[in-house]
Amino acid sequence: MIMKNNIIKILRNITLPAIVVSAMMVVLILAPGCGKEAGGAGRMKIAADIVPMADFCRAVGGEMVEVEILVPPGASPHAYELTTGQMRFLADADVMVTVGLGLTPWAEEILSKAGNPDLATVAAGDAIPVAQLIPAALHAQGGEAGEAAYDPHVWLDPNLARYIITAIRDALIQVDPQNALIYRENAAAYEEELAHLDAEIRGEMATLSSRKFIAFHSSWTYFAARYGLDQVGVIEEQPGKEPSAGEIAELVEKIESQGVRVVFAEPQFSTRAAEAIAEESGGGVVVEILDPLGDPDDPASDTYLEMMRGNLAIIVEALA
Ligand SMILES: [Zn+2]
Repeated sequence: MIMKNNIIKILRNITLPAIVVSAMMVVLILAPGCGKEAGGAGRMKIAADIVPMADFCRAVGGEMVEVEILVPPGASPHAYELTTGQMRFLADADVMVTVGLGLTPWAEEILSKAGNPDLATVAAGDAIPVAQLIPAALHAQGGEAGEAAYDPHVWLDPNLARYIITAIRDALIQVDPQNALIYRENAAAYEEELAHLDAEIRGEMATLSSRKFIAFHSSWTYFAARYGLDQVGVIEEQPGKEPSAGEIAELVEKIESQGVRVVFAEPQFSTRAAEAIAEESGGGVVVEILDPLGDPDDPASDTYLEMMRGNLAIIVEALA
């Protein structure tokens, strides 16, 4: 009996460490395949609808992610058709990040076509508390999509961008929990950058002598609301639908009666209407271009932060 007990004890002493060692070896063997790797083929594949969303993804994902921008620089997200190459990328992507709020009505449609049930999706509009969204009174959607409930240009308020960063961070952690710490640290650092940008804008806004502007379309609605600017009117309520003679006359009347000094156009659209309105208004009304999207190939707007600082400088100069 004593012998048998001793043998069992010995077996136990051998077996338990052996099991632990085997389990550790299994973990060690599996580990490299579990998490995403920085650089190379192991990177997480993210599709983002517009340049600023792609930049947010890079800010949070760093070297761990490969980001494909769906709407190329210079194009308007309001109407865009994906290429077959982009559809292939989506079929095999890990995460898709969009603004939502009806900005890219085509994005919902392609999700079903991409044939990728494992794709994690982030929509900025869902990440922002409804109380902070602005009704889309000035931003009727063109085409068959119907009128959107809320204005989609949320990323142009750095305070709302922080919610987007948090949502992207959580999606990346969900897909790649092993590197959660990296995503958390990157997101926290970028949120600090956004807070700096916000403070910088607030400081500059305090110096303006005029707060009124006419916009090409409703891009700057959230920015204006946050920083106390007055968007007196927009040229195209539906981006891509040119204003009628009556609408132009109405804008000219507003400019003259309210002493508006600047019309903000956009690089993604023709400046013709803005120039015509400024000219008809007379009295030194200027047309300046604010870029709501940025361009990864332009060093002046290749990141969201650069783009916003560039826009801020133009706003300050126009309204000083
Ligand atoms: Zn827009």
